[in-house]
Amino acid sequence: MSSTIVSSRAGWFASREVQTAERDLSRRDNAEGALPCHVFVVEDENEICELLRYNLVREGYRVTCINRGDEALRRVKEESPDLIVLDLLLPGVDGMEVCRALKEQPASRQIPIIMLTAKNAEADIVAGLELGADDYIVKPFSPRVVVARIRAVLRRAAARRAEESGPVLRIHDLVIHPGRHEVWLGGEPLELTPTEFRVLCFLARRPGWVYSRAQIAEAVHGGEQVVTDRAVDVQIAGLRKKLGRYAEYVETVRGVGYRFRSTSG
Ligand code: CA
Repeated sequence: MSSTIVSSRAGWFASREVQTAERDLSRRDNAEGALPCHVFVVEDENEICELLRYNLVREGYRVTCINRGDEALRRVKEESPDLIVLDLLLPGVDGMEVCRALKEQPASRQIPIIMLTAKNAEADIVAGLELGADDYIVKPFSPRVVVARIRAVLRRAAARRAEESGPVLRIHDLVIHPGRHEVWLGGEPLELTPTEFRVLCFLARRPGWVYSRAQIAEAVHGGEQVVTDRAVDVQIAGLRKKLGRYAEYVETVRGVGYRFRSTSG
């Protein structure tokens, strides 16, 4: 397989990252092979679309290229793909808005989204993840890295689906319903962002267990992307605010990380 680097814009992927992804990729090639998943590539630059199509089809994926944000929204409804690679600067509706709209609707909320963009400011990354994007790749990129990320995200999505079919968690009048992506507090629904919801589920599933910020980021977003400790702290702060009288259940363990208070004493 070639490891062409798309260099339509300045900069190169760090070679270490490429190597790690390639090692990852070959391990998975040996372990499981490619699944026949349907991937939407939403990107207005034809050259990038075709490069991704070429590489993904070769890996056994079915690929649909879409050049506009509004068309993407319409076709996701009709075709319900397994994963979306989403450019941010798009004609019609921009990528952030497409992501927001898809994550708001129960029918499309579970479809993983990998944002693909020339923007690389941390603020954009955090904003994308806040909206529920599953990963974030900055252009220019190596197609092999994109393929490896897609596999990783699909595998996490499958693991999450299995987890989220798990039992409802109840702590007094706080009820977490993983399968329905809902949290209720005293009979009232809580409006959590997708990321806050995942953090809460991750911690509450094992009360009393302490997790580092890196472990939380890994569980919620996967390990291959830039999620700073600070971004995890921001998620926890937002979550506590919304949990109201249950805020103190999300405990800070100084020098280590966070845990959900054990309810069994
Ligand atoms: Ca674009």
